[in-house]
Amino acid sequence: MLSYLHEFHAGNFADVHKHASLILTLAMMQAKPSAIAGFDTHAGSAMYDLAGERAKKTGEAESGIQQVWKLRHRLQSSDWSPMLAELARLNPGEGQLSRYPGSSAWFDCLQREQDSLTAFELHSGESSRLQDWARGHRVTVQAGDGLEGLLRALPPKAPRLLVLVDPSYEIKEDYQRVAKTLAQAWTRCRHGVFLVWYPMLTSGQHRVLPEQLGRLGIRKTWHSELVLRQPPERGMTGSGMVIINPPWGFSDRFGAMMAEVSGDQGLNADHKQTWLVPE
Ligand code: SAM
Repeated sequence: MLSYLHEFHAGNFADVHKHASLILTLAMMQAKPSAIAGFDTHAGSAMYDLAGERAKKTGEAESGIQQVWKLRHRLQSSDWSPMLAELARLNPGEGQLSRYPGSSAWFDCLQREQDSLTAFELHSGESSRLQDWARGHRVTVQAGDGLEGLLRALPPKAPRLLVLVDPSYEIKEDYQRVAKTLAQAWTRCRHGVFLVWYPMLTSGQHRVLPEQLGRLGIRKTWHSELVLRQPPERGMTGSGMVIINPPWGFSDRFGAMMAEVSGDQGLNADHKQTWLVPE
Protein backbone atom coordinates (compact mmCIF):
# COMPACT_ATOMS: atom_id res chain seq x y z
CA MET A 1 0.00 0.00 0.00
CA LEU A 2 1.63 3.25 -1.13
CA SER A 3 1.19 6.32 1.04
CA TYR A 4 3.75 8.79 -0.39
CA LEU A 5 2.23 11.97 -1.87
CA HIS A 6 4.57 14.22 -3.78
CA GLU A 7 2.43 17.28 -3.01
CA PHE A 8 4.12 17.47 0.44
CA HIS A 9 7.54 17.74 -1.23
CA ALA A 10 6.88 19.46 -4.56
CA GLY A 11 9.38 22.13 -5.49
CA ASN A 12 11.93 21.17 -2.82
CA PHE A 13 15.69 21.28 -3.47
CA ALA A 14 15.59 17.72 -4.82
CA ASP A 15 12.89 18.63 -7.35
CA VAL A 16 15.06 21.54 -8.53
CA HIS A 17 18.01 19.17 -8.99
CA LYS A 18 15.94 16.49 -10.75
CA HIS A 19 13.75 18.76 -12.89
CA ALA A 20 16.67 20.97 -13.97
CA SER A 21 18.52 17.86 -15.14
CA LEU A 22 15.44 16.52 -16.93
CA ILE A 23 14.77 19.83 -18.69
CA LEU A 24 18.39 20.29 -19.77
CA THR A 25 18.62 16.71 -21.04
CA LEU A 26 15.43 17.03 -23.07
CA ALA A 27 16.38 20.46 -24.45
CA MET A 28 19.81 19.17 -25.51
CA MET A 29 18.32 16.07 -27.13
CA GLN A 30 15.92 18.31 -29.06
CA ALA A 31 18.88 19.92 -30.85
CA LYS A 32 18.27 17.09 -33.34
CA PRO A 33 14.89 16.84 -35.07
CA SER A 34 14.35 13.08 -34.69
CA ALA A 35 11.46 12.03 -32.46
CA ILE A 36 11.95 11.25 -28.77
CA ALA A 37 9.83 8.71 -26.90
CA GLY A 38 9.59 9.94 -23.30
CA PHE A 39 8.74 7.69 -20.35
CA ASP A 40 8.04 8.94 -16.83
CA THR A 41 7.95 5.73 -14.77
CA HIS A 42 6.90 7.34 -11.45
CA ALA A 43 4.89 10.36 -12.48
CA GLY A 44 3.04 11.60 -9.39
CA SER A 45 0.10 13.88 -10.17
CA ALA A 46 1.86 16.32 -12.58
CA MET A 47 0.79 19.69 -11.17
CA TYR A 48 1.21 20.90 -7.59
CA ASP A 49 -0.21 23.70 -5.48
CA LEU A 50 2.60 25.26 -3.46
CA ALA A 51 0.05 27.44 -1.64
CA GLY A 52 -2.01 24.39 -0.64
CA GLU A 53 -2.18 22.85 2.83
CA ARG A 54 0.07 19.90 2.07
CA ALA A 55 2.91 21.93 0.59
CA LYS A 56 2.59 24.55 3.33
CA LYS A 57 2.76 21.86 6.02
CA THR A 58 6.35 20.97 5.13
CA GLY A 59 7.33 24.30 3.57
CA GLU A 60 9.93 22.43 1.48
CA ALA A 61 9.50 24.58 -1.62
CA GLU A 62 10.63 27.60 0.41
CA SER A 63 14.20 26.30 0.46
CA GLY A 64 13.89 24.90 -3.06
CA ILE A 65 12.22 26.43 -6.10
CA GLN A 66 11.17 29.63 -4.28
CA GLN A 67 14.88 30.37 -3.69
CA VAL A 68 15.66 29.84 -7.37
CA TRP A 69 12.71 32.07 -8.26
CA LYS A 70 14.11 34.85 -6.06
CA LEU A 71 17.46 34.54 -7.87
CA ARG A 72 15.94 34.38 -11.36
CA HIS A 73 17.05 37.83 -12.57
CA ARG A 74 20.66 37.06 -11.62
CA LEU A 75 20.96 33.69 -13.35
CA GLN A 76 23.43 33.90 -16.24
CA SER A 77 23.03 30.48 -17.76
CA SER A 78 20.44 30.46 -20.55
CA ASP A 79 19.80 26.81 -19.66
CA TRP A 80 17.55 28.09 -16.86
CA SER A 81 15.30 29.82 -19.39
CA PRO A 82 12.90 26.94 -20.25
CA MET A 83 12.17 26.31 -16.56
CA LEU A 84 11.78 29.99 -15.68
CA ALA A 85 9.58 30.67 -18.72
CA GLU A 86 7.17 27.87 -17.79
CA LEU A 87 7.04 28.99 -14.15
CA ALA A 88 6.30 32.55 -15.27
CA ARG A 89 3.54 31.31 -17.59
CA LEU A 90 1.92 29.29 -14.80
CA ASN A 91 2.30 32.04 -12.18
CA PRO A 92 1.56 35.34 -13.92
CA GLY A 93 2.34 38.41 -11.91
CA GLU A 94 3.12 36.53 -8.70
CA GLY A 95 6.00 37.33 -6.38
CA GLN A 96 5.89 33.82 -4.95
CA LEU A 97 5.19 30.72 -6.99
CA SER A 98 1.99 28.82 -6.31
CA ARG A 99 1.78 26.43 -9.27
CA TYR A 100 4.66 24.03 -9.74
CA PRO A 101 4.88 21.37 -12.47
CA GLY A 102 5.87 17.79 -11.75
CA SER A 103 7.99 15.69 -14.06
CA SER A 104 5.23 14.80 -16.56
CA ALA A 105 4.25 18.45 -16.86
CA TRP A 106 7.89 19.40 -17.52
CA PHE A 107 8.17 16.74 -20.20
CA ASP A 108 4.87 17.90 -21.69
CA CYS A 109 5.61 21.60 -21.84
CA LEU A 110 8.82 20.93 -23.76
CA GLN A 111 7.69 18.18 -26.10
CA ARG A 112 7.50 18.84 -29.83
CA GLU A 113 4.94 17.50 -32.32
CA GLN A 114 7.13 14.47 -33.09
CA ASP A 115 7.78 13.57 -29.42
CA SER A 116 5.61 11.47 -27.12
CA LEU A 117 5.23 10.86 -23.39
CA THR A 118 3.98 7.84 -21.47
CA ALA A 119 3.51 8.39 -17.74
CA PHE A 120 3.04 5.61 -15.17
CA GLU A 121 1.66 5.97 -11.65
CA LEU A 122 0.81 3.15 -9.25
CA HIS A 123 -0.94 5.04 -6.42
CA SER A 124 -4.65 5.07 -7.28
CA GLY A 125 -5.38 8.61 -6.03
CA GLU A 126 -2.30 10.04 -7.73
CA SER A 127 -2.99 8.22 -10.97
CA SER A 128 -6.54 9.57 -11.17
CA ARG A 129 -5.25 13.10 -10.55
CA LEU A 130 -2.66 12.46 -13.26
CA GLN A 131 -5.41 11.25 -15.62
CA ASP A 132 -7.45 14.41 -14.93
CA TRP A 133 -4.47 16.62 -15.73
CA ALA A 134 -3.55 14.59 -18.83
CA ARG A 135 -6.98 15.21 -20.42
CA GLY A 136 -5.78 18.60 -21.62
CA HIS A 137 -2.35 17.32 -22.69
CA ARG A 138 -0.71 14.97 -25.18
CA VAL A 139 0.29 12.37 -22.61
CA THR A 140 -0.59 8.68 -22.31
CA VAL A 141 -1.21 7.72 -18.69
CA GLN A 142 -0.94 4.16 -17.43
CA ALA A 143 -2.14 3.37 -13.92
CA GLY A 144 0.31 0.66 -12.93
CA ASP A 145 3.88 -0.30 -12.20
CA GLY A 146 6.27 1.98 -14.08
CA LEU A 147 9.27 -0.36 -14.08
CA GLU A 148 7.31 -3.26 -15.55
CA GLY A 149 5.54 -0.88 -17.95
CA LEU A 150 8.84 0.53 -19.18
CA LEU A 151 10.28 -2.89 -19.95
CA ARG A 152 7.11 -3.84 -21.84
CA ALA A 153 7.43 -0.69 -23.99
CA LEU A 154 11.10 -1.11 -24.99
CA PRO A 155 12.51 -0.76 -27.55
CA PRO A 156 10.41 2.27 -28.52
CA LYS A 157 9.15 2.90 -32.05
CA ALA A 158 10.66 6.39 -32.05
CA PRO A 159 14.37 6.64 -32.89
CA ARG A 160 15.29 8.13 -29.52
CA LEU A 161 14.39 7.43 -25.91
CA LEU A 162 14.37 9.49 -22.71
CA VAL A 163 13.36 7.82 -19.45
CA LEU A 164 12.97 9.35 -15.99
CA VAL A 165 12.92 6.88 -13.09
CA ASP A 166 11.88 8.68 -9.92
CA PRO A 167 10.49 6.30 -7.30
CA SER A 168 9.40 7.25 -3.78
CA TYR A 169 11.56 4.36 -2.42
CA GLU A 170 8.86 3.50 0.11
CA ILE A 171 9.78 -0.13 -0.44
CA LYS A 172 13.42 -0.82 0.45
CA GLU A 173 13.78 -3.28 -2.43
CA ASP A 174 13.13 -0.41 -4.87
CA TYR A 175 16.87 0.42 -4.92
CA GLN A 176 17.73 -3.09 -6.15
CA ARG A 177 14.72 -3.22 -8.44
CA VAL A 178 15.62 0.05 -10.14
CA ALA A 179 19.20 -1.13 -10.79
CA LYS A 180 17.97 -4.46 -12.18
CA THR A 181 15.36 -2.77 -14.40
CA LEU A 182 17.93 -0.32 -15.75
CA ALA A 183 20.22 -3.19 -16.71
CA GLN A 184 17.39 -4.84 -18.65
CA ALA A 185 16.10 -1.60 -20.16
CA TRP A 186 19.54 -0.63 -21.43
CA THR A 187 20.00 -3.97 -23.21
CA ARG A 188 16.70 -3.27 -25.04
CA CYS A 189 17.67 0.28 -26.04
CA ARG A 190 21.41 0.93 -25.75
CA HIS A 191 21.28 4.45 -27.12
CA GLY A 192 18.49 5.44 -24.68
CA VAL A 193 19.04 8.21 -22.16
CA PHE A 194 18.05 7.10 -18.64
CA LEU A 195 17.76 9.48 -15.68
CA VAL A 196 17.49 7.91 -12.23
CA TRP A 197 16.81 9.94 -9.09
CA TYR A 198 17.41 8.80 -5.52
CA PRO A 199 17.28 10.44 -2.08
CA MET A 200 20.46 10.65 -0.01
CA LEU A 201 19.54 9.41 3.45
CA THR A 202 21.20 9.53 6.86
CA SER A 203 20.85 5.73 6.95
CA GLY A 204 23.09 5.44 3.88
CA GLN A 205 20.80 2.83 2.31
CA HIS A 206 20.71 4.81 -0.96
CA ARG A 207 24.41 4.12 -1.68
CA VAL A 208 23.65 0.74 -3.16
CA LEU A 209 21.97 2.37 -6.16
CA PRO A 210 24.85 4.39 -7.70
CA GLU A 211 27.16 1.51 -6.79
CA GLN A 212 25.05 -1.01 -8.66
CA LEU A 213 24.44 1.31 -11.61
CA GLY A 214 28.19 1.94 -11.84
CA ARG A 215 28.86 -1.79 -11.76
CA LEU A 216 26.73 -2.27 -14.89
CA GLY A 217 29.76 -0.78 -16.64
CA ILE A 218 27.68 1.14 -19.17
CA ARG A 219 29.94 3.69 -20.84
CA LYS A 220 28.84 7.28 -20.23
CA THR A 221 27.21 6.89 -16.84
CA TRP A 222 27.22 10.25 -15.10
CA HIS A 223 26.56 10.91 -11.41
CA SER A 224 25.60 14.04 -9.53
CA GLU A 225 24.81 14.76 -5.89
CA LEU A 226 23.43 17.91 -4.34
CA VAL A 227 24.25 17.74 -0.63
CA LEU A 228 22.56 20.03 1.91
CA ARG A 229 24.97 22.11 4.00
CA GLN A 230 22.59 22.03 6.96
CA PRO A 231 20.85 18.68 6.67
CA PRO A 232 18.06 17.61 9.00
CA GLU A 233 18.98 15.08 11.72
CA ARG A 234 16.80 12.45 10.10
CA GLY A 235 15.64 12.01 6.55
CA MET A 236 16.97 13.41 3.31
CA THR A 237 20.42 14.98 3.38
CA GLY A 238 20.83 15.35 -0.35
CA SER A 239 19.56 14.51 -3.81
CA GLY A 240 21.25 12.12 -6.23
CA MET A 241 20.97 11.64 -9.99
CA VAL A 242 22.53 9.08 -12.27
CA ILE A 243 22.24 9.59 -16.02
CA ILE A 244 23.13 6.90 -18.50
CA ASN A 245 24.06 8.40 -21.89
CA PRO A 246 23.64 12.14 -21.13
CA PRO A 247 23.93 14.36 -24.22
CA TRP A 248 27.46 15.41 -25.12
CA GLY A 249 28.51 18.48 -23.08
CA PHE A 250 25.72 17.98 -20.52
CA SER A 251 28.03 17.84 -17.52
CA ASP A 252 29.57 21.29 -18.09
CA ARG A 253 26.23 22.95 -18.71
CA PHE A 254 24.54 21.28 -15.75
CA GLY A 255 27.49 22.08 -13.48
CA ALA A 256 27.18 25.76 -14.47
CA MET A 257 23.46 25.75 -13.69
CA MET A 258 23.95 24.20 -10.25
CA ALA A 259 26.85 26.55 -9.42
CA GLU A 260 24.46 29.48 -9.81
CA VAL A 261 21.81 28.24 -7.39
CA SER A 262 23.51 25.97 -4.89
CA GLY A 263 25.18 28.62 -2.67
CA ASP A 264 23.94 30.08 0.61
CA GLN A 265 21.76 32.64 -1.21
CA GLY A 266 20.04 29.73 -2.95
CA LEU A 267 19.67 26.06 -2.06
CA ASN A 268 22.49 26.12 0.54
CA ALA A 269 23.97 22.90 -0.78
CA ASP A 270 27.12 21.61 -2.44
CA HIS A 271 26.99 20.12 -5.89
CA LYS A 272 29.44 17.51 -7.08
CA GLN A 273 29.40 15.53 -10.27
CA THR A 274 31.56 12.82 -11.74
CA TRP A 275 31.54 9.97 -14.26
CA LEU A 276 30.67 6.62 -12.68
CA VAL A 277 31.74 5.09 -15.98
CA PRO A 278 33.43 7.41 -18.51
CA GLU A 279 33.16 7.27 -22.29
N1 SAM B 1 8.26 12.18 -10.76
C1 SAM B 1 7.42 13.06 -9.96
C2 SAM B 1 7.93 14.47 -10.14
O1 SAM B 1 9.15 14.67 -10.31
O2 SAM B 1 7.12 15.39 -10.15
C3 SAM B 1 7.42 12.69 -8.50
C4 SAM B 1 7.20 11.24 -8.26
S1 SAM B 1 7.20 10.75 -6.59
C5 SAM B 1 8.83 10.98 -6.04
C6 SAM B 1 7.12 9.00 -6.79
C7 SAM B 1 5.77 8.50 -7.27
O3 SAM B 1 5.95 7.14 -7.65
C8 SAM B 1 4.67 8.50 -6.22
O4 SAM B 1 3.58 9.22 -6.74
C9 SAM B 1 4.32 7.03 -6.03
O5 SAM B 1 2.95 6.81 -5.82
C10 SAM B 1 4.75 6.43 -7.34
N2 SAM B 1 5.11 5.01 -7.34
C11 SAM B 1 5.68 4.27 -6.36
N3 SAM B 1 5.97 3.03 -6.81
C12 SAM B 1 5.59 2.98 -8.12
C13 SAM B 1 5.69 2.01 -9.15
N4 SAM B 1 6.21 0.80 -8.91
N5 SAM B 1 5.26 2.33 -10.38
C14 SAM B 1 4.73 3.57 -10.64
N6 SAM B 1 4.60 4.53 -9.71
C15 SAM B 1 5.03 4.25 -8.46
